[in-house]
Amino acid sequence: MGLNLYDTMTREVREVYPMDGNMVRFYGCGPTVYGPAHIGNFRTFVIQDVFRRVLETSGLKTFHVRNVTDVDDKTIRQSQEEGVKLEDFTDKWTAEFRKDCDLLNLLIPHAEPSAVGHIPEQISLIERLIEGGKAYRANDGSVYFKVDAFPEYGRLSRLAEREITTSQTDRETSDEYERDTAADFALWKARRPEDGENFWESPWGQGRPGWHIECSAMSMKYLGESFDLHSGGVDLIFPHHENEIAQSESVTGKTFARHWFHVAHLMVEGRKMSKSLSNLHTLEDLDQKEYLAQEVRYVLLTGSYRQPLNFTFDSMKAARKALSKLSDFATKFDFKPSQGDSLETEFGPFHPVQEALLSDLNTPEALGRCFRLVRELGEAFEQGEYKGKEEALNEIRQGFQAVCDAFGLILEPKEEKRTEDAPAEIQDLSQRRWEAKQGKDWALADQLRAELLEQGWTVKDGKDGFELVPTVE
Ligand code: AMP
Ligand code: ZN
Repeated sequence: MGLNLYDTMTREVREVYPMDGNMVRFYGCGPTVYGPAHIGNFRTFVIQDVFRRVLETSGLKTFHVRNVTDVDDKTIRQSQEEGVKLEDFTDKWTAEFRKDCDLLNLLIPHAEPSAVGHIPEQISLIERLIEGGKAYRANDGSVYFKVDAFPEYGRLSRLAEREITTSQTDRETSDEYERDTAADFALWKARRPEDGENFWESPWGQGRPGWHIECSAMSMKYLGESFDLHSGGVDLIFPHHENEIAQSESVTGKTFARHWFHVAHLMVEGRKMSKSLSNLHTLEDLDQKEYLAQEVRYVLLTGSYRQPLNFTFDSMKAARKALSKLSDFATKFDFKPSQGDSLETEFGPFHPVQEALLSDLNTPEALGRCFRLVRELGEAFEQGEYKGKEEALNEIRQGFQAVCDAFGLILEPKEEKRTEDAPAEIQDLSQRRWEAKQGKDWALADQLRAELLEQGWTVKDGKDGFELVPTVE
């Protein structure tokens, strides 16, 4: 069974399969590097990562391209405000982005092209559009795409259903217009004084490329004129992806991407997490609150990618508990995480988890099934069902590895942190409790147990003594 995934273009759940060979070639629109990426951005990148992992664990190869948007209004404005050269500014935020990707255990794309590194490719695409009569140069030296020259315009975002008509007089210079117009959009933006030194020479004079042409040029350079899948957050459907299709298909006459995969937004109190609403969280500020990147990753997997997901701190706490249960399982089964070159593995007893993932990347269902299996297998283990059954144990370990690989979680068995690791005052408290218990002072013993619990330690009594175990929050 292959991966079935909702396709925004056809509005159907369809199988994702490679056009040729067994390598799925896909493009994901990358970050605009003008500040730290927030965990809303990372919802999209984490889900794309799971998409890739699910393909790879089921035996397909992938070629994953994710660009870096390192020139646009925001990067230029922000670098100027900080008095830094654009290149130095975007290098810094690209490095920060990669660091966060590592913390979140995102697989590294096979190519990470940057817009500034591909100006000639963008210019040549614009030239082809002008030659084909699909674009025109305006008096100021900007070049616009002629929306009326591409009759299929609006198919992805269903503009026609929204009763929007095109108007030849409407022209859009902004890359990220919100309104549902089908205005001619900028492919090349003539140099303006506020751009400072950030301009390039072109056949139409000095200027810089628009945002949409960047992704058309780079995706086709690395993946060919037609490729398997294109992806981003739902906010990119219009105008960004609509415009990418128009630019690319007008030049090639071929289907640009065969499948369109969009991730719904991470929300905060009913609104999209975004820089402009100042409601964002970054890995760094969550780290200061002592939340781990892996817990963020887990939270981002708890909702279906097709539905908005509300971010709460309660869900972060629940993630810690859930991950701790998985670590307990790893400890019980003496599981050692391994990282090979290929992710292809047998899910064995965990195949229901794989099935849920292959079924439109249903991560919440997959997690639910995973916990059910973890509980059932764990109970069977406790009842001694696996005593001496090394083969069955290995299948379980391998299946659990497959699950970890698909979710992108790294689960270490728990360190056996115990009594002797506890701080002196905790040891002291627990000793007093033990003595109270021996002296049958149950009230005091209970009170001291509660005190220990409050400090994060659980007491486990045995016949001849007790043990301290850190409590999971
Ligand atoms: P940007 O850096 O703004 O170009 O965005 C990078 C990626 O993050 C794009 O695919 C966006 O669609 C996506 N994105 C932005 N905000 C959110 C959000 N709140 N939830 C999910 N994805 C988002
Ligand atoms: Zn893009």
